[in-house]
Amino acid sequence: MKSIAVLTSGGDAPGMNAAIRAVVRTGIAKGWEVYGVQHGYYGLMSGDMQIMGQRDVGGIVQQGGTVLGSARALEFKTVEGRQKALRELNKRGIEGLVVIGGNGSQTGAYALSEMGFPVVGIASTIDNDLYGSEMTIGVDTALNIALEAIDRLKITASSHQRAFLLEVMGRDCGYLALMAGIAGGAEFISIPEIPTEPEDIARELHAAYERGKKHGIIVVAEGAKYNANALVAYFKEHKAELGFELRATILGHIQRGGAPTAFDRLLATRLGAAATSALARGEYGVLVGMNKSAMTTTALSVVVANKKTVDFALIELQKELDG
Ligand code: ATP
Repeated sequence: MKSIAVLTSGGDAPGMNAAIRAVVRTGIAKGWEVYGVQHGYYGLMSGDMQIMGQRDVGGIVQQGGTVLGSARALEFKTVEGRQKALRELNKRGIEGLVVIGGNGSQTGAYALSEMGFPVVGIASTIDNDLYGSEMTIGVDTALNIALEAIDRLKITASSHQRAFLLEVMGRDCGYLALMAGIAGGAEFISIPEIPTEPEDIARELHAAYERGKKHGIIVVAEGAKYNANALVAYFKEHKAELGFELRATILGHIQRGGAPTAFDRLLATRLGAAATSALARGEYGVLVGMNKSAMTTTALSVVVANKKTVDFALIELQKELDG
């Protein structure tokens, strides 16, 4: 192998830059040329890629986002789209590709590898919903940002004796909400995996007030049965029965933009190095991830066929911790 390419795809995640840097520098250390592809699969199909030197990835390890840019590229879902990408790769003599991204991106990586091209994926999404890696790049940073928001809301909630609602990301997976809620000491956590009714939340908050609590913090994942806006509307409409209104804060994209934590930088760096090692030993069509603190590989066919779930025991734990 003489030449590889790297791209970031899907939602940006803090730590992606550290992964790009590790792929470029460990690739160069192996004597390869490393191309950086702009805007994910979109740039792969349009041939928007340039050779990167060691200095091109200087000063980015501490930056959130991705210097290569990311984009949604629907055309890549078609065979014609992927053939276009293969032509661009072959034209430049590129023999391997590293795809840094979440579920959709790894589905694309799998589709390309099924067409015979050597692809290695790197687990990167703040949702932590990717099978094959206990932790994905960006989760720890996003979690810490959510936690800071909970801590701040708690102070206001205590001062005014009010119930506050914080919505965090997670369309299908409640990992962020669950972990942030436990770490922040939330009174109630609502996640997509467990459908919750507004009455359940009201009951829990009433019980907490009766026990003498001065605040009520509810953490809800965006993909929960009732998201923040739906809950606020429901509580407003049923104020007479439920007893109070909720104030909502939706964190939204604020969760993505932070400087990566030490954990995310180290994870991304190790995964980047593991990806070039996999390519060097001829192990393709795999996702590199972290399991039991070690760098591991899982076939992309297995990654895309499985769904990662949250640890349901932690939901029970949260109930016991709510004092
Ligand atoms: P995140 O989890 O952070 O949102 P993601 O990687 O899941 O990231 P998506 O928007 O789902 O983000 O996917 C990113 C890109 O991957 C898509 O724009 C498309 O180019 C490619 N992709 C997604 N699904 C497929 C598929 N079934 N086949 C080929 N390519 C795909």
